[in-house]
Amino acid sequence: MRHVDLEDLRLPDGWANEAQAATHAILGGAPPSDFDGIWRDLKQRLAALLHDKCWFCETPVTRSDNAVDHFRPKSRVSDAANAHQGYRWLTFAAANFRFACTFCNSRRIDVEHGTAGGKADRFPLVHEANRVYGVVAADLDFDDLLATVQAERPGLLDPCNLDDWRLLGCKRENGNPCATSDDPEVVTRVNTSIEVYHLDHEPTCKQRHTVSGMLLRTVRKAKARFLTIDPSDPGTIRAFEASALEIKRMIARKAPYSGEMRFLLGGQRSDLHPWIQRLLEDG
Ligand SMILES: [Zn+2]
Repeated sequence: MRHVDLEDLRLPDGWANEAQAATHAILGGAPPSDFDGIWRDLKQRLAALLHDKCWFCETPVTRSDNAVDHFRPKSRVSDAANAHQGYRWLTFAAANFRFACTFCNSRRIDVEHGTAGGKADRFPLVHEANRVYGVVAADLDFDDLLATVQAERPGLLDPCNLDDWRLLGCKRENGNPCATSDDPEVVTRVNTSIEVYHLDHEPTCKQRHTVSGMLLRTVRKAKARFLTIDPSDPGTIRAFEASALEIKRMIARKAPYSGEMRFLLGGQRSDLHPWIQRLLEDG
């Protein structure tokens, strides 16, 4: 997972007015599905904010039916303590959109490997008592629709939160997702996210494992080259730099699973190899 800044989203001409009119229509009783085209129109623009990767699992998305996820579900919330008709007033709030692959977004069961997941209408909260069930249409501020839900603390990691992505790592031995901290609230949110986004889907774990193997082999090579740099031999410097550059590419925002690879690279830091910290600070 990586942070995605939705402020970078450039909206098409007239989109905001259309979204506002559709929100009023829905709050007046119209079915949200009458206006699906409005948020579907943003699919490519949302995808571009993270190099066409899923914002939850960082898998490159080549094809996906329901690629725009409503972070707060629009028609029903299965985690709510009481019957919830969905955060209908956020159906057309761009700040509520997340670009997602089919496996993270739609409910699926992997019978062969015994895992299940897919977000669908899930939206657990850390404190269920703070759940918002509805709004008064006249009170809505269309410049900041999320103000209506600021009392809620999502039980899921949110790629649009500045720090959440840093809480998700993976295990080097098998590519399975894991928390990067022992803090009990973090562990709970990460484990809930793994389940809801189906981050432990076996084919995804396998891909993460393949990429992490490449990363760690390159780190080993770079470490060996770093320790044998001979300042009088430019060839030894160039050899180290070539390996360091390969690593930099594997943790760059556009690389698959780059958040987890940054976590694994962090585990390779030592006083002997200050260049690792520098690569991480570079981004
Ligand atoms: Zn995904």
